Order: sequence, then structure tokens, then C-alpha cells
Amino acid sequence: MKVMSIFGTRPEIIRLSRIFSKLDSNFEHIMVNTNQNFTPELSQIFFSDLKIRKPDYNLRISTGQYGKEIADIIQKSEKIILKEKPDIILILGDTNSGLAAIPAAHHGVKIVHLEAGMRSYDSRMPEEKNRVLIDHLSSILLPYTNYSRENLIRENIHPSKIYVVGNPIIEVIDFYMPKIEQSSILEKMKLKTDSYFLVTAHRSENVDNPETLSKIISGLEKIHFKFKKRVIYPIHPRTLSKLKKKIPKGVECIKPLGFFDFTKLEKNAFCLITDSGTIPEESLYFKKPCITIRDSTERPEYIESGSNILSGLEPQNLINSIKLATSSEFNLEWDKSLGDGKTSLKVANILQGKIDRQKYE
Ligand code: UDP
Repeated sequence: MKVMSIFGTRPEIIRLSRIFSKLDSNFEHIMVNTNQNFTPELSQIFFSDLKIRKPDYNLRISTGQYGKEIADIIQKSEKIILKEKPDIILILGDTNSGLAAIPAAHHGVKIVHLEAGMRSYDSRMPEEKNRVLIDHLSSILLPYTNYSRENLIRENIHPSKIYVVGNPIIEVIDFYMPKIEQSSILEKMKLKTDSYFLVTAHRSENVDNPETLSKIISGLEKIHFKFKKRVIYPIHPRTLSKLKKKIPKGVECIKPLGFFDFTKLEKNAFCLITDSGTIPEESLYFKKPCITIRDSTERPEYIESGSNILSGLEPQNLINSIKLATSSEFNLEWDKSLGDGKTSLKVANILQGKIDRQKYE
């Protein structure tokens, strides 16, 4: 059986890293990188750190302008799909690269969607539109949690197509824990455990609007003075390109980090502040409080787990949320919304066992 994985961004490369290796050993596996994230610090570093083999294809799509980017993804992935004739296309998540599902569906190739069923019900998010579209074009849907499975069923997707497989990030962190422990980033940056905030922010609804971006930056400045802790902000090139304002004193913007250095910083931070999807999941793994600076989330499980507060962007709300999240009462027994760390095995088993039966559905 020929399985083609199509991906293009940092979180896809990280989350798929263990699954790639399972696919390589059990299937004829064609890896297609759209290069949606093309800077070395968002792409190449993860191939070398996580020992991911070279993709079979690099599509080098044009990025920046929406229509051009999508058109390029569709045209270039269609070409490879027609050439390679895979039995299955594997897509993870909600990025524009996942829209390779459109030509795959058009040509009758079965689509398997990992991270299916997440819904923020926030129509401002480009990712929300992609999620709905990819889910409804897919033959097999692999949500991380039962919550996401229920979203799919509410949208009339037949339960026989859905398997809950847990969150692949757990397996990745477990596998690389010795490397994470070896990272010397704390010494390099002269940071002590619990002495700093770790920040990421790059969602388009937050950083594309100069007013909201400026609110985020001013919130970070305020927390530096209020809590007297360093604020470490590995800044995504997307955000950097939108920044007009001078970075205030106390906010330390650095280049994006490799996975081992970044997760080492997560593990030792006082509190994580983010608009990322993956960081609330990693915070639960490390049992670190996490504040999501957004108004909506597609991951309510992390709020229910007690590890994540959805603060919005107002600086005073951010301060109050940090106080609450880092107070001792907040130290709850956090549950296992993350699955059991065996996602790659489950994905391979499902692909192997399901493909022929799908003929009769
Ligand atoms: N990450 C990293 N270096 C950084 C920032 C993040 O390796 O400087 C990792 C982080 O540990 C997580 C992933 O990148 O696994 C999150 O990616 P991102 O926030 O870009 O995507 P999202 O989760 O929002 O889709």
C-alpha cells in the first residue's frame, strides 16, 4: 500500500515525526513537504534534530498571498498525486498545506485526517475553515480526543469513519526526553527554573491587526514589571514581519528555537503564555500553567483539565489569569486528555486494517 503524507509547517513536522518513521517501516511511504514554513528555523532544524529523513518531494510553494499560496498547493500536490498514485493521503491538522485534500478528493484518493474534529467555532480563524473542509473530504478521521469525535458526529460524519488515536505530541516528547534533558539552553540564557515566562504568539487573528499585536506586546511588558520575571519570546517570522512597535524593555525577543531547547524552556518556565495550539498540550504534559491569549479555542479539553486559562488579550486579564494559574490552588491533578502516547502505532494499524473495507462503505 502506498501512503503519501503531505505537510509543510513546524507543528506538522514535529507531530508527524514518529508517525513518519512508522510509515517508512510498514508502507511504501512518499513524503511531500509543501515548504509552507520555509525558513531553516521553522523547518530544517526539525528534520535534523528529530532525525527525519529527506522528503521525497519539496513543493516550494509560493507563500504570502492567500490565493497564490492555495493555488500553488493545489496545483503542485495534484501533479505529485497523479504521478505517484497513492492509495492514501495522510494529512495532519488545519494548515493551508492540508488543502492538498482538495485535489486528492477530486481524483478519488482516500484521505486520512489526523487531528480531525477540532472546532473553535471562531470564523475569524483561517484554520477553522480548513479543518471543516478537510474533515468533510476525508474517508478516515483520526481525532485526538472524544470531544473532537463528538464534533464530527454532530456534523453528520458517520461514526464508522472515526477512530480516536490520542495526541501524537506525547509520543514525540516521550521519545526525545533524553535529548530535551540534555539541552543546555537554561545555562546559555542564564535562566533558572520558574524565573521566567515563555511566550509564543503568531495566530493571524492576533498578529495581523496592529492594534491586537500592540496589546499583546504591552501585556508582556506589564507582566515583566508586575511579576519581576524575564519574558522570553522566541518570535515567529510571521509576527516579526508585522511588528512595527519597538520591543519594550523586559521582553526578550529571540529567534525561534529547536524542539529540544524550546521544550526544555517549557518544562522549566514559571508560566507559558501563548496563542499556539500545541503549547497548551505540551504545558499539560509538563504540568506547567498555561495562559492562552485568544478569545476562543478548539482545545477545550485543556481548559477542562485545569492547566489552561483562556485570557483574551486585555493586559489586566492576562495579569489576573497568571496570578490564578500560578497560585497553589491551581495545582490540580491534571488528567490524561493527551492519550496514551501510542498514536503512531494506532495510525499504522488503522491504515493497514481499514483500507480494503472502505470499498464497501
Ligand atoms: N516550538 C519550537 N520552537 C519554538 C516555538 C515552538 O520547537 O521556538 C514547537 C513547540 O514545542 C510545539 C510546536 O513548535 O511543538 C508549536 O508550533 P506552533 O506554535 O508554530 O504551531 P501551532 O501549535 O499553533 O499549530
